[in-house]
Amino acid sequence: MTTLLPHKFGPYGGQFVPETLMPALIELEREFVSARNDPAFNAEFDKLMASFVGRPTPLTYAKRLSEKLGGAQIYLKREDLAHTGAHKINNALGQALLVKRMGKKRIVAETGAGQHGVASATAAALLGLECVVYMGSVDIARQEPNVFRMKLLGAEVRPVESGTKTLKDAINEAIRDWVTNVRDTHYLLGSALGPHPYPTIVREFQSVIGREAREQMLMDAGRLPDTVIACVGGGSNAIGVFSGFVNDESVELIGVEAGGSGIASGKHAARFGDAEKARVGVIHGTRTYVLQDEDGQIAETHSVSAGLDYAAVGPEHAMLRDNERAFYTSATDEEALSAFQMLCHTEGIIPALESSHAVAEVIKKAPTMRKDQVILVNLSGRGDKDLNTVIKEIGNW
Ligand SMILES: *Cc1c(COP(=O)(O)O)cnc(C)c1O
Repeated sequence: MTTLLPHKFGPYGGQFVPETLMPALIELEREFVSARNDPAFNAEFDKLMASFVGRPTPLTYAKRLSEKLGGAQIYLKREDLAHTGAHKINNALGQALLVKRMGKKRIVAETGAGQHGVASATAAALLGLECVVYMGSVDIARQEPNVFRMKLLGAEVRPVESGTKTLKDAINEAIRDWVTNVRDTHYLLGSALGPHPYPTIVREFQSVIGREAREQMLMDAGRLPDTVIACVGGGSNAIGVFSGFVNDESVELIGVEAGGSGIASGKHAARFGDAEKARVGVIHGTRTYVLQDEDGQIAETHSVSAGLDYAAVGPEHAMLRDNERAFYTSATDEEALSAFQMLCHTEGIIPALESSHAVAEVIKKAPTMRKDQVILVNLSGRGDKDLNTVIKEIGNW
């Protein structure tokens, strides 16, 4: 079998899947490589990115936040202004176009908070595909508006009652469906995770963020940023923005994981940050860093933001960390909530709680930098979906 794309990122990545799925992964890789070299496919993708998603998303200079922090100049890449409110639509639409190209009619997707489910249901409605979204019953209860959105968009939402009834269990069920119906069904994976070629495909569809941001920085600031900061759940928005700068050696790349109630509390999703529980393992088809107990069982995770609440991180990030091209840190729930409020007050932007973790790192980092230095932060999504959580967490106003 010819290898079309690298299967691994150093020692990470690979294809740890049942034999029955190998033909589907090989077909997907072939189709992706041929689509990427097909001007008609790229033209259709670019056209939908502009006319449907609303790209390019703007770059906003955060003047008042920069002044308040008193150090580096801060620029925001506004993925919150993309259709459906986050970067996830870039990947969902790209994969949905591949599904049409493969002649398949049905997609299955997993979702935690519901953002990827909404993006998948949206892409399916636009392109006339059948869409089934697996979602843990615990998540269904706490993310009701997104469940309703998916249904309005014509998707079927299937509750998952196994395990902890959250994201990892939803992924298990989506994979189970895919194995059973692989002939006519595509698994539309939502982050830079899973078996090859998913991490590469997702990065490529999200790389539009980094390409646009690099060009916009050169236009608006007249220079590249010194530092690029993004939050890291599975790692798709981060790898998308990093990819625009990874070859610029002068640009520092920082990923921010969910520190939850603090690393020491054990209640977090800092896959790189917990020296005790973070070890290399295999999960959902890929080898990467996974939070696990002494027996190798997947550890329970916690974050105030559902989109960062997952026990594993994308394999390319594991490599970037090993070779020190990118650095990873974490922000606690409390730090993210306070960053959320600061961005609301200083810039008139309500960020997603996931993105607020990146803003929390900006709050720590900008004051240590000079005023002629520049930080670019990827604002991965908007906070409308998080209002109930925030009101509960920060109490009466
Ligand atoms: C899903 C989500 C994330 C986390 O996913 P990544 O794949 O790490 O980008 C971050 N921000 C928002 C707004 C999300 O919806």
